Amino acid sequence: MQSISILGSTGSVGKSTLDVIARHPERYQVAALTAHSNHALLLEQCQKYTPKLAVMVSESAAEKLQHSLQELGLSHIQVNSGVDALTQAATLGDSVMSAIVGAAGLVPTLDAVKAGKRVMIANKEPLVMTGGLFMAEAKKSGATVLPIDSEHNAIFQCMPFDQSKQGVRKLHLTASGGPFLGRKWNDLSGITPEQACAHPNWSMGQKISVDSATMMNKGLELIEATALFDIAAESVDVIVHPQSIIHSMVEYTDGSFLAQLGSPDMRIPIAHALSWPERINSGAKTLDITEIARLDFQKPDMQNMPCLALARWAATEGGALPIALNASNEVAVSAFLSQAIGFTDIPLVIERTMNEVVGQDTTDLVSILNIDNESRALAQAAIDSLR
Ligand code: NAD
Ligand code: MG
Repeated sequence: MQSISILGSTGSVGKSTLDVIARHPERYQVAALTAHSNHALLLEQCQKYTPKLAVMVSESAAEKLQHSLQELGLSHIQVNSGVDALTQAATLGDSVMSAIVGAAGLVPTLDAVKAGKRVMIANKEPLVMTGGLFMAEAKKSGATVLPIDSEHNAIFQCMPFDQSKQGVRKLHLTASGGPFLGRKWNDLSGITPEQACAHPNWSMGQKISVDSATMMNKGLELIEATALFDIAAESVDVIVHPQSIIHSMVEYTDGSFLAQLGSPDMRIPIAHALSWPERINSGAKTLDITEIARLDFQKPDMQNMPCLALARWAATEGGALPIALNASNEVAVSAFLSQAIGFTDIPLVIERTMNEVVGQDTTDLVSILNIDNESRALAQAAIDSLR
């Protein structure tokens, strides 16, 4: 029996994880659940999965949750609040699913890595921010890191079994191209948050949906791949593949390409990581290859994908740039969602921020968090100047 803590259990990946867990009660039990402020959904999840610990970042939401649990006779479920309690949750089970969105997941996920846990990581932003440091900590503690992002999970599955990179020439990350594939970037200035969040193949949280529409998601994934697989940015290609059936590929020196295929359903990589190195039923629809009949591929049109171009720059340059890219993107996406800036303003905010910090060095977590903070302030200043 594996006990699992889920950071961000009320989100899209969190809910899919619980769906897979519910299919295998003989294998998995829930140790801890965490959410930002959705106490009504966390209450439902507590009733169904009876974790030892439930954490809400919001103190008032935690009080409401505790009150409801008492009324239902479930006061044996401990309720804690605040950011520090996320680390308590992250280190309680044998395994942790890191599914918080954004930089907020960094500290608890890194704490789980340092504690030597089995860490299933969907939350790509910490990997982008910390680069090699994250995997170096895992090496030190003996933690097992299993990627959940579908592309990285696909690459993990197509790598040599010992993850040695022996004979690996290149990684090919596939991208659906998002809802605006084929459109000119300059024609997208009037795009609304609703249009940007309507992804053709995947149903996801708001932030990653906007990132998919700007192609920043693929940019973050490019940096994520360099960190996870310790490979140079030049050896990671992006290919547009609108059907999202091939989730990524590994190219070997002998000319072989290994690809992982499946329905666009996050329960597949989640089930893979939960049961690795075994296999279990994920609940996902099986693929009918003859029904799909054809798969299309194209080179990304970099002229019309400014966010991907900025991420390629950050991935190649390293240092402060991936941190600035990630932080300013979070601030810009949140400003776009609240309609403070337009869709096409997002890369302008990011580029201005990156230009301010380029050349700064990062050596440890403290300097990473300093650049993250500085970049958020710079991005906010750029947003204010656009209004
Ligand atoms: P989501 O917005 O649906 O859910 C986010 C979760 O994090 C919620 O449970 C929320 O309560 C919690 N949360 C939000 N802000 C928080 C904060 N400041 N502190 C603590 N908790 C907070 O997001 P999602 O789509 O499930 O994505 C989660 C992560 O997984 C992201 O990093 C995303 O890039 C990555 N990812 C998601 C998908 C997908 O299909 N949704 C695929 C690949 C990778
Ligand atoms: Mg992905």
